[in-house]
Amino acid sequence: MKFCKKYEEYMQQKEQKLPEVACKKLKNILKKCGLAFQSQRDPESNSSADGVVEIKITSCHNHCPVCDGAFFPSLVNDMSAVVSYFNERAKKLIELHQAAGLKKYFLWIKGKMQGEGTHVSSLIEEGKEVVVYALINAIMIQKLLKKYDKIHHCCKQGPAFKSQAQSMQIEILQSPWLRELVALHINLGETNVSSSTAEAISSEGYRLTFNDDKVSLSCQLFDSIRLDIELTCPVCLETVFDPVSLTCGHILCKMCACSAASVSIVDGLKLADPTEKCPLCRKAGVYQGAIHLTELGILLSRSCREYWEKRLQIERVERVKQAKEYWENQCRAFMGI
Ligand SMILES: [Zn+2]
Ligand SMILES: [Zn+2]
Ligand SMILES: [Zn+2]
Repeated sequence: MKFCKKYEEYMQQKEQKLPEVACKKLKNILKKCGLAFQSQRDPESNSSADGVVEIKITSCHNHCPVCDGAFFPSLVNDMSAVVSYFNERAKKLIELHQAAGLKKYFLWIKGKMQGEGTHVSSLIEEGKEVVVYALINAIMIQKLLKKYDKIHHCCKQGPAFKSQAQSMQIEILQSPWLRELVALHINLGETNVSSSTAEAISSEGYRLTFNDDKVSLSCQLFDSIRLDIELTCPVCLETVFDPVSLTCGHILCKMCACSAASVSIVDGLKLADPTEKCPLCRKAGVYQGAIHLTELGILLSRSCREYWEKRLQIERVERVKQAKEYWENQCRAFMGI
């Protein structure tokens, strides 16, 4: 696995030691298991012409007694460390830009663009570096899981682990902060996002793509990995407006998320019942930790202006209606009616 070397080199050239996946250690666990596995199954195996031992496979093996106890727990530990480091750093970068409020934020960008351009480019660089860190780790993990399945002549464990990792929120590609960073990158890289007719707004490998009324965000690095993020809300089936990311990784309009979680927009998602499920994957408890995707909202508002304005008006009416209902209920409760 040549990628492991590349990965280690990348990690070593960092100034400080960053959390990483112990790919050598994990590979060794698999290697040892592979040997044990082959000798165990030897009676059923035969040698092919080039001397490679081929094992006749009848079915997928669900569990490996040799390495499951070491491989997966170790991988989970590494992945958690990588994801929490990434989330924290990405969050800081995003917060830095929004600290002064959105209006000032735009003025600030404008000023930077006109004047000291270097500042913005260093921010772009830092954001990009963090995205590369996320993606290179994602590739490494993907490769290790493929290797696991290959050694065990199985195709189920890798995908099964992946979905488990998603529910544990340690799958880095699902991180809302990765989406925010990609959006931030485009926001900072593009000074002149103007028309909704533009087919793609891109900044290097980062793009916002318009295809048959469907908008998606994509990011491509190293030729080998491409991240595509669908921006259609599963509730209203339109481009997400005022987007929030649920803890399962699905992106919805804030308004739609509130109605799916049966809370009013006045109360907000924090008050959602933990039993409420995601409309897409049916996972429960995904609302309370939902994250507002501010950078993505800015990007969409700039690139689909007419649509945004239309949704803004609809939402204003709905907000007023819900706020009125809310206060009427409060009054009734107060007066005991
Ligand atoms: Zn094994
Ligand atoms: Zn929606
Ligand atoms: Zn979901």
